[in-house]
Amino acid sequence: MRYSQLFAKTSKTAPHDADSANARLLVQGGYTSQLAAGIYTYLPLGLRVLDKIKNVIREEMNALGAQEVLMPALTPKEPWTTTGRWDEIDVLFKLEGHGGKEYALGSTHEEIVTPLVQQFVKSYKDLPTSVYQIQDKFRNEPRAKSGLLRGREFSMKDMYSFHLTEADFEEYYERAKEAYFNVYRRCGLEALIVEASGGAFSKFSHEFQVLTESGEDLVFHCTCGFAQNKEIAEVKEGDTCPKCGEGTIKADKAIEVGNIFPLKSRFTDAFDFKVAGPDGKPQSVLMGCYGIGPSRVMGTIVEVHHDDKGIVWPRGAAPFDIHVVSIGGKDPDKVLAAAEELVKDIEGCGLEVLWDDRDAPPGEKFADADLIGIPLRLIVSEKTLAKDAVEWKERGSEKTDLLPKNDLLDAVRAWVGLRVA
Ligand code: ATP
Ligand code: MG
Repeated sequence: MRYSQLFAKTSKTAPHDADSANARLLVQGGYTSQLAAGIYTYLPLGLRVLDKIKNVIREEMNALGAQEVLMPALTPKEPWTTTGRWDEIDVLFKLEGHGGKEYALGSTHEEIVTPLVQQFVKSYKDLPTSVYQIQDKFRNEPRAKSGLLRGREFSMKDMYSFHLTEADFEEYYERAKEAYFNVYRRCGLEALIVEASGGAFSKFSHEFQVLTESGEDLVFHCTCGFAQNKEIAEVKEGDTCPKCGEGTIKADKAIEVGNIFPLKSRFTDAFDFKVAGPDGKPQSVLMGCYGIGPSRVMGTIVEVHHDDKGIVWPRGAAPFDIHVVSIGGKDPDKVLAAAEELVKDIEGCGLEVLWDDRDAPPGEKFADADLIGIPLRLIVSEKTLAKDAVEWKERGSEKTDLLPKNDLLDAVRAWVGLRVA
């Protein structure tokens, strides 16, 4: 992709109301554009990042054996009254259609998925099963804030699993935890698993929390793995850890990047969803739900991975793998031709390249490359061409190397291999 052809560009001025690093850097970097509080457009660069994150999640959910569906975001009132949540969920966006018919924009989808699965699952032999979707959710958040961290329309992956026995549910729940850790690791995030309130459904749920000063949540945790959200915490900072009996409890701010819940039969009972058991008698169905916000994950990555110059994307979430910057000189056409050849060769290795082909001062191009934050920058200039070389610089490191052109593709392949491993 040629930067000159990208319609949305970087901006030198920070949005006046940016209250967090991601709110500022994603707009300045040309990733997002704010329409209203908590409502964002994803520009070409931003959509690439969001899609990368969604695809990581998709791969991990598919590996769990879950099947992807897409449910409507516009939902009729009836299933919400069946569960009693029409009046219970305070952030539900409600609308009126023709003839006074009432609807809600989905804030979560238990009310839709439970009767959907009930249509097809009739016998214990049809269990376990799990489905997920990646879709925009709508919540009338009283305070939309911190860029992508708390939106009123935001992306969510929501998965729902259905089981005959408690043991089967628990086994799946543990595997889902592992899948979640894989997602965060691949997105360059280190998440803690934290006990949190189970809402109206059960004693606990489990949140995945990324520790950072810009987080809204407070987590009490120990190095042994014990962690509780402030809302249910039975400990305070400085206490001896009740789990290992040795460590000292620390309190840290954190961002909730995922939440999984044992729902038991809260929703299946509401829809009278039972299956024929081995003895032919109707049996209750147990359920779990598993949420991740890809857009909040995107904002969190920026909160955790940035410096004073811009974003520092981990490779798994970067919009492109490599940023090629060509620098004019006395014979600009020669440099452009050499850069074009380099871009083609790298793309031939299956990598994605953003090529800054503009006729602009080098300082401006480097500042933009730092702001955009692609993991590897390669510079082609008259100076490097004279040495039959390319300059190599990784984002987040001050070190630059001059690499012979002949060695470049091998080096790029090794770099990808090393980073992926
Ligand atoms: P919070 O406590 O932050 O309001 P929640 O507990 O209400 O979130 P869940 O219903 O658990 O959210 O949603 C599952 C996931 O969806 C969350 O872990 C988070 O990653 C994401 N998410 C929830 N609300 C928002 C939002 N307003 N904007 C962006 N992502 C969100
Ligand atoms: Mg939650």
